[in-house]
Amino acid sequence: MCQTLTTARPDRKTLNQGQNWISPPKRLALYMRDSYGCCYCGRGVEVEGVVLTLEHIVPYSKGGALLDPNNLITACRSCNSARGNKALTTFVKANAEKWGRNADCILSYIRRHRAMPINTKASKAMIEERGSCRKVLDIVVQGDPIK
Ligand SMILES: [Zn+2]
Repeated sequence: MCQTLTTARPDRKTLNQGQNWISPPKRLALYMRDSYGCCYCGRGVEVEGVVLTLEHIVPYSKGGALLDPNNLITACRSCNSARGNKALTTFVKANAEKWGRNADCILSYIRRHRAMPINTKASKAMIEERGSCRKVLDIVVQGDPIK
């Protein structure tokens, strides 16, 4: 009998489409943990053109956990796509100067943030109150109209 040594994992895109691979409360809780900003370049969601995404520290395609907060950080779309499957340290060291930041500080920030607990109870309540993760982020950017 023939046995394979590796366990086949379903492709992430076949698990779920678009942004639905993670629940909205968990996504928002991770953005909150990372202060609504990109862990690489430091730009916040309030900066024009910045779109927040979640980035796998160890890419799912390389065996990283899909939903473990310890493997997820907030990254802007531009940094997330620039990194691709590059090793974290290599990517940060190659780009820190471009971002006007210190590579060791970025790596330390990522180490601290990925270990912080996330508060899905709070993010769930915010989404229930506002209707969606997107609407909560709009309030972060524009301020709360109901005051
Ligand atoms: Zn960025």
